[in-house]
Amino acid sequence: MPIAIDRRRFFQSGALAAAGIAAAGRLPSQGGEPVAGRALLEAARQVPVVEEADVVVCGGGPAGVAAAIAAARTGAKTRLIEVNGCLGGVWTAGLLSWILDTGNKTGLMKEILARLKERGGLAVYGGDRGYDVEEMKILLEEICLQAGVLVRLHTRACSAARSGKRIEAVITESKSGREAFRGKVFIDATGDGDLAAQAGCGFDYGHPETGQAQPMSFIALLSGIEAEQVAPFVRELAEAKDWGSPKDNLRAEMQRAGVDPSYAKPTLFYIRPGLFCLMANHQYGVAGTNADELTAASLQGRAEVHRLVSALRATGGRWADLRIVATPEHIGVREGRRIHGRYTVSTEDLLAGTRHEDAVCEVRFPVDVHSTNPAETKGIADKKVRAKPYEIPYRALLARDVDGLLIAGRNISGDFIAHSSYRVTGNSVPMGEAGGIAAALAARSGRMPHELAWSEIREQRRAQAAAG
Ligand SMILES: Cc1cc2nc3c(=O)[nH]c(=O)nc-3n(C[C@H](O)[C@H](O)[C@H](O)COP(=O)(O)OP(=O)(O)OC[C@H]3O[C@@H](n4cnc5c(N)ncnc54)[C@H](O)[C@@H]3O)c2cc1C
Repeated sequence: MPIAIDRRRFFQSGALAAAGIAAAGRLPSQGGEPVAGRALLEAARQVPVVEEADVVVCGGGPAGVAAAIAAARTGAKTRLIEVNGCLGGVWTAGLLSWILDTGNKTGLMKEILARLKERGGLAVYGGDRGYDVEEMKILLEEICLQAGVLVRLHTRACSAARSGKRIEAVITESKSGREAFRGKVFIDATGDGDLAAQAGCGFDYGHPETGQAQPMSFIALLSGIEAEQVAPFVRELAEAKDWGSPKDNLRAEMQRAGVDPSYAKPTLFYIRPGLFCLMANHQYGVAGTNADELTAASLQGRAEVHRLVSALRATGGRWADLRIVATPEHIGVREGRRIHGRYTVSTEDLLAGTRHEDAVCEVRFPVDVHSTNPAETKGIADKKVRAKPYEIPYRALLARDVDGLLIAGRNISGDFIAHSSYRVTGNSVPMGEAGGIAAALAARSGRMPHELAWSEIREQRRAQAAAG
């Protein structure tokens, strides 16, 4: 059955602007500026409904994959829609290679780590976990398929259809054209809150005073260096186990080679013999919701990484065989829209170590704001807020303005400072897991996610963790 798009809501959602059509309702930080006031009116068309699912998850990063697996394991017909050609988001398409804040996590996060270890794809350094990106890609596909998740890659969520306050379909664009996927419950795990914004949710973006989001980073996988020879530049290998000195050593080494990285704390991660990950790039003042800016950041990031690596190689010695083996499909975006939820995780929560009845996970990762102003510092902004361990409540995953919509991962409801702490992937996974279970329980019982009792979600989660 075709689905009719409500033109007024479509207009407000910003989707017209995304298509390059002048619209008063255009979202901040989105592209689509008309040239010299010109605009095209795209013809109205019928969009085929290609599926009726219980749960539709948009975005297949750490949060979205976890949400889809958990929903499918709870018995829901679950569709996962991902724009890249692999699952994993920043984990894989971004080449991250490092998982933070896993120490106190159970359930899916623990299962993913255990299964990575079985395949020889995991390196453990104290509380941190390094992993092989290709092992992560294939593992996430395997777990999703085993759980019965219906995976659609190469497909972008580009609009939403609502009935009253309730979201009823996501409209996608792909090689198959425009399609609609209906669902009983939706989860926005796009990192940037794309679906929620398209559905009409309010959101915050960037620093409350400047509107600037944290810089992006273009990561690279490197080979051709030996662990013992580069030990002074790698925290896991260096004698001094502090975070700072290996980064300062690496920066000095780059400067000696005649290059100065845009990230003043360049980091070399040791994944396994012969494989390292380099994070030495910062792209400042770029919005992840603007295609022109993303393009420029990607081109500049890739060029810089090649420049840094070539310069080190030219110095010979331990760097003589240094090579880039991969650059990311997608530049690493730290921060996008923070969708308004029924609870907003705040700086005060971090200071107080707030606990909740409906706790999805406990965050132990500190405040970590990469500088938004390179004129002040190109490193980490001053850490004025000392966070105590605190909890993320389920209510921060419930969209405030749209019913039937959950949010999971870095686009949940929180302030700028809180986001800089809870965004790491050891927290994205339990957020997705709880969201997926809640979505499935709601869909199966004909309720909205906000109508569930937390105890129902908690019991189902415990059962899945025990089985996994
Ligand atoms: C440079 C950098 C370094 C970091 N360092 C660490 C670290 O060392 N350890 C750590 O644990 N965390 C780290 N983080 C944080 C962490 O990677 C992210 O916060 C985390 O990936 C959030 O997971 P997510 O699933 O919410 O979002 P993402 O990983 O961003 O996943 C979102 C997914 O949605 C897809 N998507 C987006 N829009 C659409 C759409 N419209 N339709 C369909 N699909 C869509 C994307 O392709 C992607 O797969 C880092 C982040 C960056 C950028």
